This record gives sequence, structure tokens and C-alpha cells, in this order.
Amino acid sequence: MKKTEFTEIDALFVGAHPDDVELGAGGTVANLAREGKKVVMVDFTRGELGTRGSGERRLKEASKAAQILGVQERINLGLPDGFLKSDDETIKKAIHVIRKYRPKIVVLNPEYERHPDHEAAHRIIRSAMFKSGLLRIETKENGRLQEPFRTRKIISYQQAYAFTRKPDLIVDISDTFETKMKAIKAYTSQVYVPGISDPNGPVTRLSRPEFLEELEARAIYFGTLIGCRYAEPFISIEPVGLKSLSGII
Ligand SMILES: [Zn+2]
Repeated sequence: MKKTEFTEIDALFVGAHPDDVELGAGGTVANLAREGKKVVMVDFTRGELGTRGSGERRLKEASKAAQILGVQERINLGLPDGFLKSDDETIKKAIHVIRKYRPKIVVLNPEYERHPDHEAAHRIIRSAMFKSGLLRIETKENGRLQEPFRTRKIISYQQAYAFTRKPDLIVDISDTFETKMKAIKAYTSQVYVPGISDPNGPVTRLSRPEFLEELEARAIYFGTLIGCRYAEPFISIEPVGLKSLSGII
């Protein structure tokens, strides 16, 4: 993957762990990449506490998945898996990322989640998105002060509680569903890939063969709501504005 040369990107997709973005919004990422949009992914941790695999292996899997989705760059902040905290130091790291890439939209973990890291990632980014616009919070890139930056466009993909709240936006991923599944299967330490996954490893929710079927069923369900084959749901933090209704007709 080539290094990002530009400073302004279209979308920044954030995950507490490698695979969060693929599972929640992989089709949407691939849609944007196909449209030629500049997309960067940032993971807070390496997922080293996961029952299967290791932090090092998951980093390699994440890099492969990013290539499959077609994003410009994927970075990992190397923060502690399982103990992600919305503290000053972590928020400042997130401010640095936001000011570096200056995304038009940020897509992140949901506010309410079963895994505490997912909720922490949400709080970190929400705080960083406001504070990245404050001139007096100083962060540096290559020894130079970064310019303040703020965008109000922020949406959450959905994870464990996808069915407990009505989505605000649903994105048609019929054309990229296969790409999404291919990216997810790059995590051979986590999900069931015949012939590659360790059949004797500990069984987790993700490592069961049924998990991939559940993912497809979920995509079909949300697709049904908007009359397409496969879709991904999102929650918008702020109202989504349209210049004209022609944007949705
Ligand atoms: Zn996660």
C-alpha cells in the first residue's frame, strides 16, 4: 500500500480493533474506494487479547484486508487491547490523526456497544473531533505544528447491537458484498476459512462457520429495508443535510 501523499481525504474509518471496520462497514469502504475516494483506516489496538491469533498476525491480516478493500492507507495506533481509555493522551493521538488526514467524514464504532473498547473508541473520537478544531491544543507532525481542523460529518457503523436501534442511513453494498467478505476472510486467525483456520483452536463467536452466514443474513436484512440485496446500517450523530431531495431520488 502506498503512503498517503495528500493531506485531505474523503473518509476516515476508525476501529477499536482490526476487523471492526470490515465487519461493520467493509462494503461501504469498498464502495468509496471503487468510486476513487480517498479512504484511510485507523485501528486503535492490534487486538492482541483476542482468543485466537496474535497481535502481530492480526496486523498482517489487517494489512491484507485493507488491500482487498482498496483503501489508501491503514494505520494502527498500538494502544492496549481490552483497556482502551478515553484519556488525554489517547485523545491527543486521535487529534493528531484527524488533523493529519483532514477527512470530510469520520465513520466509527457505535456509542453503545457490548465490548467496552468499542464504546471507548467512540468517546475518544467524538472528543478528538471537537478538540481538533481548537487552536490552543497543539499537536505536531514531523516537528511542525498541525493546523486545527474540524468536520461535523460523523456516523457510526453498527456492531453487536445492530438490531436494537433503527438506522439513520443504510448503504447499498450489493456490488461490494463479496469484497467485504473477502476482506473479512483475510482474518484467517479469527474467522472460519476452510483449509486455513486452525480446526483445533479455541472456538469463538467469530470462528464458528455459522458466523459468516450470520453476516450475510444481517446484510440481507438491512438490504430488504431499502430494496436491495445487501446493505450496511449507520447511525448519524448529527442530522444529515441535503441540498435537494434529488440526492435521494
Ligand atoms: Zn472490536
